[in-house]
Amino acid sequence: PFDFQGKHVTVAGLGVSGVPAAKALHGLGATVTVVNDGADERARAQAADLEALGITVRLGDGDTLPEGTELIVTAPGWKPDKPLFAAAEQAGVPVWGDVELAWRLRGPDAAPWLAVTGTNGKTTTVQMLASILKAAGLRTAAVGNIGVSLLDAVLGEEQFDVLAVELSSYQLHWAPSLRAHSAAVLNLAPDHLDWHGSMEAYAADKGRIYEGNRVACVYNADATDKPSTEDLVRAADVEEGCRAVGFTLGTPGPSQLGVVEGILVDRAFVEDRHKNAQELAEVGDVNPPAPHNIANALAAAALARAYGVPARAVRDGLRAFTPDAHRIAHVADVDGVAWVDDSKATNTHAAEASLAAYEPIVWIAGGLAKGATFDELVAKSAKRLRGAVLIGADRALIREALARHAPQVPVVDLDRNDTGAMRAAVREARKLAHAGDTVLLAPACASMDMFANYNKRGDAFADAVRELGSADG
Ligand code: ADP
Repeated sequence: PFDFQGKHVTVAGLGVSGVPAAKALHGLGATVTVVNDGADERARAQAADLEALGITVRLGDGDTLPEGTELIVTAPGWKPDKPLFAAAEQAGVPVWGDVELAWRLRGPDAAPWLAVTGTNGKTTTVQMLASILKAAGLRTAAVGNIGVSLLDAVLGEEQFDVLAVELSSYQLHWAPSLRAHSAAVLNLAPDHLDWHGSMEAYAADKGRIYEGNRVACVYNADATDKPSTEDLVRAADVEEGCRAVGFTLGTPGPSQLGVVEGILVDRAFVEDRHKNAQELAEVGDVNPPAPHNIANALAAAALARAYGVPARAVRDGLRAFTPDAHRIAHVADVDGVAWVDDSKATNTHAAEASLAAYEPIVWIAGGLAKGATFDELVAKSAKRLRGAVLIGADRALIREALARHAPQVPVVDLDRNDTGAMRAAVREARKLAHAGDTVLLAPACASMDMFANYNKRGDAFADAVRELGSADG
């Protein structure tokens, strides 16, 4: 591993990755300075905590490169066009993200990484993968956004055989030397384009996950958008013998996993020489068995199979898996109307997946659009909509798309983006819904205009729905 003793390292950004990174680097003997744009109460509390350890913290200026910096370790969300990075480039100072740091700190016998990225389905797929690996008796963890942090997994006491690692496009951008055992890009749809600058740049950052793969590059064989995930595999520089393995909701070709008559089938990693396919599990073993989620299960299975996991463990692992909160979660039935929380649908591609799973729908949407457009989503979903209730800062964009592509659908524009908006939205949705309908919170937007995060947004929805139920007595 890298020797940090006496190195001057600047950590860019307090917060979920910055604080543990600063502590870890300090513990390894580096001289650490943390720089942070904000100086609010939370930042000051975190700073005090670090300063007590002997770490220098500079609040309110994240753009000046501290004198003597030899390496920057940045929070993944920091935009590449920030002046700090221009200064670093001029001074010849390398920039690593939190993932790069973890990758460099691995020990000599460290567990290999099975890595997953994509616009949507990352957390779900990584958790399915960990569940499958555990069913095979392997010591593993789902690492990333939820659960164990990468640094903890790499530096902690616990020993792992293999890690199931979720990576965002930001993290991949800042992880130049990462080399996974095998990796999957689940799907690619416009998201975070304000950060990456263009769809091409976003796709290129996602595609980094395939660089140096040893056994399999797993791609989405059903993708129709360009560049496809298969294009990214072709562009990647991989180890000799590494295979491209596709997953499809249709009948799999050679070197693919897919679905045949309700059975998940593997034609890429077949154990029995006399067969050309291996049955893995039934569609009903996937929870919930919605199309996008079966795709996630196939991708998880492909990575597990690339690691050598037997078919039986794939089935057992999928059966043992339960999805996390706010991902197409059924909250309640009130007067014959189903209320479903997909607060995690923070972009149009995710919302499209959940809107495709129900009909008729009263759709609650809106929030921060992050540069997205809504025409395609609304045009594809229009015929399923009973009505729509809009909240949040960028709701006008959705209202206009509805007016263009679904003029017959009644729309309630709540014209508010305070935290109480959700309660009002739930009441309006109830007026629009008929027995047999589904009211679906699938905002297609980020939550930060109204809520601290998507969890809080989903909780507000669920609370308001329960209130409805209890008012009915
Ligand atoms: P991520 O970690 O990539 O944000 P999650 O597993 O948390 O993904 O799922 C986020 C949301 O994306 C879900 O609530 C669902 O609406 C949608 N989703 C999940 N998997 C897929 C998929 N394969 N394709 C499209 N949308 C998906």
